[in-house]
Amino acid sequence: MQSALDLADQGYQVALVEREPSIGGKMITLSKVFPTLDCCSCITTPKMSAVAHHENIRLYTYCQVQSVNEQEQHFKAIVLQKARYINVETCTGCRQCEYACPINLPNPFDMNLGATRTVRVPFSTAVPQKAVLDIENCIFCGKCERVCPANAIDFTQESEIFEIEATAIVLATGFEITPRNAKKEYGADHIHNVIDGLVMERLLAPTGPYGRVIRPGDGKEPDSIAYVQCAGSRDETLGVEYCSRVCCMYAIKQAMLISGSLPLADITIYYIDIRCFGKGYEQFFQNARAMGVEFIKGKVASIHEDDDHNPVLRVELVDEGSHVVERTHDLVVLSVGMLPAYDPQATYQVSTAEDGFVAIPATNLSPCKTERPGIFVTGTAAGPMDIVDSVVMAGAAAAEAASYIEMSKNGQPLRVDLGKKWEAIHV
Ligand SMILES: Cc1cc2nc3c(=O)[nH]c(=O)nc-3n(C[C@H](O)[C@H](O)[C@H](O)COP(=O)(O)OP(=O)(O)OC[C@H]3O[C@@H](n4cnc5c(N)ncnc54)[C@H](O)[C@@H]3O)c2cc1C
Ligand code: SF4
Ligand code: SF4
Repeated sequence: MQSALDLADQGYQVALVEREPSIGGKMITLSKVFPTLDCCSCITTPKMSAVAHHENIRLYTYCQVQSVNEQEQHFKAIVLQKARYINVETCTGCRQCEYACPINLPNPFDMNLGATRTVRVPFSTAVPQKAVLDIENCIFCGKCERVCPANAIDFTQESEIFEIEATAIVLATGFEITPRNAKKEYGADHIHNVIDGLVMERLLAPTGPYGRVIRPGDGKEPDSIAYVQCAGSRDETLGVEYCSRVCCMYAIKQAMLISGSLPLADITIYYIDIRCFGKGYEQFFQNARAMGVEFIKGKVASIHEDDDHNPVLRVELVDEGSHVVERTHDLVVLSVGMLPAYDPQATYQVSTAEDGFVAIPATNLSPCKTERPGIFVTGTAAGPMDIVDSVVMAGAAAAEAASYIEMSKNGQPLRVDLGKKWEAIHV
């Protein structure tokens, strides 16, 4: 979104292709953001709206690029518009269809906590505010069709293919979290009270499913919550050797937020190293310690469940002579890491590095240039990073893409006759 806005503000025409029914990425699902503790929805929604209303941006949601061919100095992208079964021209986002639909489904926006309907507006601040109908789970009762005041339900709608021509492409396909059950020793596939960081984000979010932090296993308010760091990162057994860079900070942030909503709860963070590298991040960590969050240097080997469905952690306490103890908590949060969301090789002929994220041949000199001229990369598509770094990189990708577009217009780098007026001052 940031890269699109930066290019559009410079007068370039931008097509933004999003595979989901709404833009917003992972950020719109978060509660508050480190290190400022700003409300995530409050800072993301205006950006989403700016993208949707920018005269130079055309939004293509629920779309996927199928192939990209190079023609002279342009790329021609073949794009699949998936069927929403809704006429987006007439749908007003009134949600009457959603209220009428009798089929409840786990809500993907809330990490499958809480329920949604087969036809729904994806979430309250979705952009565009248009419904989407999940045809796989529809029983064709027609209730939505009967109540829709805009006559927008269309069961006969089909997917469509269309083309976009562009001079430059910016890949911003983001990340996925490590599957919660990737590490079998942590038992997340069968212990209900072992959750991951994104589930905790939804429990903490003001727009979340329950409006408070409860154990998914039995709805009980937890008195003791543990975080297991590096649960999926820096782990050779999973083939993920890198640090995901955000997990320490989001665990500390969530611990602070839980202290606010459950002031009597004990919160423990089991870590190998605490990595708080950004501006103001070390202070953020120290603030959490001062608030009473317990930090224990120790590697969690395994988790099992006691008779009351409390997770029991087997931990090697590094600072206490490496002896192994068992500690019981009401709720355990796995600080899962970042995995690449998308392999661009088949569609864009852009290769990935050893870690699976998009390869950048000259990281120090041109951090957004892929190996294919005209194709740039930004954000977590390039590797794990937080929002601050993603936004900075988005600006850099926009600048590199703009310069490439100018060069291809002129066949050479753009030269401006400045005369006596300077266009920019670098101090
Ligand atoms: C639990 C948790 C808490 C976090 N808390 C914070 C925090 O407090 N502060 C902070 O700075 N960072 C935080 N982060 C990190 C933050 O989420 C990321 O830095 C940020 O979301 C990266 O943005 P992005 O645009 O690169 O990727 P994403 O947010 O993943 O967005 C990528 C977008 O691309 C779309 N997409 C993917 N593939 C395709 C495709 N093939 N075609 C079309 N569209 C596609 C996706 O649907 C998505 O909309 C947290 C991360 C986690 C896991
Ligand atoms: S499909 Fe109809 S009922 Fe549903 S949100 Fe759109 S206008 Fe409202
Ligand atoms: S037709 Fe399908 S989407 Fe519409 S109300 Fe019935 S089950 Fe829900």
